[in-house]
Amino acid sequence: MQIQIFCDKITERFEYIAKFLFEQVLKIETKITNSRKDFLTSKLPRINYSKHRIADVPQVSPHGMLFESDIRPISVSITKKNELDFFFESDSFMDFDFFAASFYLISRYEEYLSYTPDNHGRFGAEESFLFKNNLLHRPIINEWMKCFKTRFCTFYPEVIFPEVKFSFLPTFDIDNAFAYRGRGFFRGILGFGRDIVTGRLSSVVQRVKTIILNKKDKFDTYDYIIKSHKNLTSPIFFFLIASRSKYDTSIQADKKILRELIKKLSVENNIGIHPSYSSNGDTEILCNEIKKLSNVLETKITQSRQHFLQLKIPETYEKLIKYGITNDYTMGYASQVGFRAGTCTSFPFFNLRKNKPTNLLIYPFAVMDATLKVYLNLSPNEACKKIEELIVSIKNVDGIFCSLWHNETFPNDENNAKWRKVHDFMLEKIKNWLTPDNIHVTKFIVLSYFL
Ligand SMILES: [Zn+2]
Repeated sequence: MQIQIFCDKITERFEYIAKFLFEQVLKIETKITNSRKDFLTSKLPRINYSKHRIADVPQVSPHGMLFESDIRPISVSITKKNELDFFFESDSFMDFDFFAASFYLISRYEEYLSYTPDNHGRFGAEESFLFKNNLLHRPIINEWMKCFKTRFCTFYPEVIFPEVKFSFLPTFDIDNAFAYRGRGFFRGILGFGRDIVTGRLSSVVQRVKTIILNKKDKFDTYDYIIKSHKNLTSPIFFFLIASRSKYDTSIQADKKILRELIKKLSVENNIGIHPSYSSNGDTEILCNEIKKLSNVLETKITQSRQHFLQLKIPETYEKLIKYGITNDYTMGYASQVGFRAGTCTSFPFFNLRKNKPTNLLIYPFAVMDATLKVYLNLSPNEACKKIEELIVSIKNVDGIFCSLWHNETFPNDENNAKWRKVHDFMLEKIKNWLTPDNIHVTKFIVLSYFL
């Protein structure tokens, strides 16, 4: 099945967003033409993306931004009509130009304009149009396309859209692979001294138990993580391989214990780089970190998530592309859960500054453990509720639920046991929605992009 779209002027922006909405979100092929004659004689179900009416054909009157090539402040305001929240109202069977509105969100248009950065220099959730309009927690683009299917079928009842299934993409950031092991003699002594001076007796005991009595390190929670994903999708682990600095506290890549851990996890899971805080100011650092991980695994590194979610668009993505990264998982906010790009579907990055699409695939995540625990300061029960709401909103549109956790969240002590339970709760909820058949689909979605 194909959909024929007419557009007076086919631009990079229009072609990109049409392909995303139909081929990525709805999994249906499109044919785009600027020939009125071909369009009028086409036997396919049709959409008219122009200002001129064509009898009996669903029309979307263009907002205009997809025909532009510059970046400028654009006024956006939400309208609510027939149960739908949208912007870029137009003469359309959908009541708005959903092509332009979706492009505005997934291109991250507003992040190219001037904004007040947060204390780490980032574009913060609270700056965003979706947060300000209380829509950040909804995969709004996917909701629009669900509505599109219903309205389009009133014109073409014979159209059957392919079934799209809910899927799950678990990911883990490894900022500190171990709490005490692999730190080296001097850093160990320093840490010991610091614990004593600051009166952290439980830490002193933990350190002694781990180093001297050879007990399990408190951040060594990998057995738990792997076991909890058995019969589910294998997670992706992103490793921080950095020289020590204020915000980069990882174990050095030359430590045997870290290399062994990475190799062990890579047998059944996917491994990516977690570019350090320092790498943002120096591309040579980024290049070296990727090289170090690549040397450990003896393979090319193609997946990445920025440490501290340090993402400056388009600069960060341009650098990652330069060093061979093809999949990035940074699209989300630290301080709020939800959908930074308005979608729970992966999409190729469109570089607005060059006005061109790229081959870098962006996987948006919906929730991070630190957002729930630290930024929103939720209790474990409140966190479970928030996670459930997100899973339901994604299931409602059969999208991809991507989660972000840290190995440091699961030490087996009293306080953190509660957060293991939150994680277990999340997996239980997901299992309710996954059948053996769509677990396979989930694996396929992840792996197909690794080729
Ligand atoms: Zn990190």
